[in-house]
Amino acid sequence: ATPTALLVGTGRGAQVGVLIKGPEVLESTRRVDTIVLDKTGTVTTGRMSLAAVHPAAGVDEGELLRLAGALEHASEHPVARAIAEAAASRFGDLPVPEAFENRAGLGVHGVVEGHLVLVGRPAMLAEWAIEPEPAAEPGTEASVADALAAEAEAGRTAVVVAWDGRVRGVIAVADAVKPTSAAAVSRLRALGLEPILLTGDHEQVARRVAAEVGIDRVIAGVLPEGKAEVIADLRAQGRSVAMVGDGVNDAVALARADLGIAMGAGSDVAIEASDLTLVRDDLLAAVDAIRLSRRTMGTIR
Ligand code: ADP
Ligand code: MG
Repeated sequence: ATPTALLVGTGRGAQVGVLIKGPEVLESTRRVDTIVLDKTGTVTTGRMSLAAVHPAAGVDEGELLRLAGALEHASEHPVARAIAEAAASRFGDLPVPEAFENRAGLGVHGVVEGHLVLVGRPAMLAEWAIEPEPAAEPGTEASVADALAAEAEAGRTAVVVAWDGRVRGVIAVADAVKPTSAAAVSRLRALGLEPILLTGDHEQVARRVAAEVGIDRVIAGVLPEGKAEVIADLRAQGRSVAMVGDGVNDAVALARADLGIAMGAGSDVAIEASDLTLVRDDLLAAVDAIRLSRRTMGTIR
């Protein structure tokens, strides 16, 4: 490969809205046969909005949203932003957490007004040894388990809220698929790539998004280290794997892929871990980058 031809490709990359880390990236871009897509913020807009608040029996609905929102105010996750914004618009100023910890791909916990609060995946409850509530008796108020099941059925992302050792309710948020995602998936297929949807979110939510954009293969409920393992497994099967992601939770997987692709609006950690960044935040730019690399490398073979 002549360096001149490669640099032309790199320059044109910027024109199609792709920033390439170095000319050698074009070679891995040309070779990929599998493209793993993160869901939230990559295939979907990642701008989530509050869909429903389900307090557990005896819990005030406003209090549930207020405490969860106060804690989530300190997190940048799309789920967190939706909950914090809804709480702020309803209650104005929110209490500031006294301690706060973000757990990538899981949720957050911290101290709000003296309560030890957690918001996140139901899996966090077991970690904290919090008993999940038993399913409600028929004819009584719906339980936390019922709310989670109903939200999964509706294809919405639901998180549990707990404080002081008890589950206090469920908050659901909704996200929308980016307008260009379905077209990008069908063009990736036309280029011979198999698309796979990879997410930390619930299987049913992932299936709904996959169906909407035309992806058959879904790997859901995966923690950040699990995402990297999925990439490693696919590579061990002899595939040449591109991974597209935006979040802190995608960074290890992006670094592990043959070709890491970050969304331009993604976290700095994701961008640093990647070989290529999509400036417009739009999967069609990944299609352009693959076409460009095939054309450029084609001229220098
Ligand atoms: P994705 O793989 O789709 O980008 P993540 O791995 O970032 O999703 O998150 C997976 C799940 O972890 C979310 O669907 C949510 O249930 C939970 N989660 C992560 N961060 C938070 C947070 N700050 N607050 C509440 N839930 C969170
Ligand atoms: Mg994401």
